[in-house]
Amino acid sequence: MERARGPVIALDGLGSSGKSSVGAALAAALGCRFLDTGLLYRALTWLALERGLDPADGPAIAPLAAEIDLGADDAGRLTRVIVGGREVGALIRTPRVDRSVSAVSRQPEVRAALLGRQRALAASGGIVVAGRDIGSVVLPDADVKVWLDASPEERAARRAAERGTDPASSEGRAILDDLRRRDRLDGSREHSPARPATDAVHVRTDGHTFEETVAAVAAVVRAAWTGRGG
Ligand code: C5P
Repeated sequence: MERARGPVIALDGLGSSGKSSVGAALAAALGCRFLDTGLLYRALTWLALERGLDPADGPAIAPLAAEIDLGADDAGRLTRVIVGGREVGALIRTPRVDRSVSAVSRQPEVRAALLGRQRALAASGGIVVAGRDIGSVVLPDADVKVWLDASPEERAARRAAERGTDPASSEGRAILDDLRRRDRLDGSREHSPARPATDAVHVRTDGHTFEETVAAVAAVVRAAWTGRGG
C-alpha cells in the first residue's frame, strides 16, 4: 500500500545531546522538514523575561506563545524564530535564557499552549521533530522514535564549542553545571518530563563523530519506516 505522506520522526534527548544538529542533517538527508521544539520554549522564555514576567507564572506566559512565529530557512528547516517581526535566534540561545527556560517549560499552561502547535506542524508528515517529550507525549504515534544518549560531559563540551568557550574555563564549567541542573529539572517535572518513550530506539553518541551519529539515526529510521511499509 502506498503511503500518502512522509514519516514523522520523533528525535528526543537531553540538552545538547545533538538533537538540533543531527535532526537538521537527518531531515536534509531524508528530504523532510525539521522542527526543533526547544526553540519554542526558548523564545517564550526570552519573551517572558523581556516583559518582566515571573518564569513560574504559567497563566501569564502561555498567551505569549501566539506572538512567536517559526520561519523556514532555504532548506525548509524551521530554524528562524521571529517575534514581532524581529529575528531572535541569537537572543534565545544565551545563558540568561538557559537559566530560566526549565522554570517556564514546566508550567502546564505553557505546555498546553505549545502542544497543538507542535502537532499541527507535524500533521502533514515528512518531518523530523526534536525535543524531550516528542515520542512520549507530543507525537505518541510517530512513525519512528529515537532517543539520543550522551554523557553530561560530552554534551557540555559540545555546547561550549558552539558558543566558542573552552570547556575547562569557568564559563565552560558553568555550562556543564547548567546542563546537569536542567537535566534534573526537565527530567523530574510533573508534566511531560524529559524521558525516552518506551518504544524509542536509543542511539548513544559518546565517542562517535557527528557523521557517524547521523548515519546511525538514519539507519534506525530507514529500518523502522521500511518495516512499517513506508
Ligand atoms: O533543546 P533545548 O536545550 O534548546 O531546550 C531548551 C529547554 O526547553 C529545555 O531545557 C526544556 O526545559 C524545554 N523543552 C521542553 N520540551 C521540549 C523541548 C524543550 O521542555 N520538547
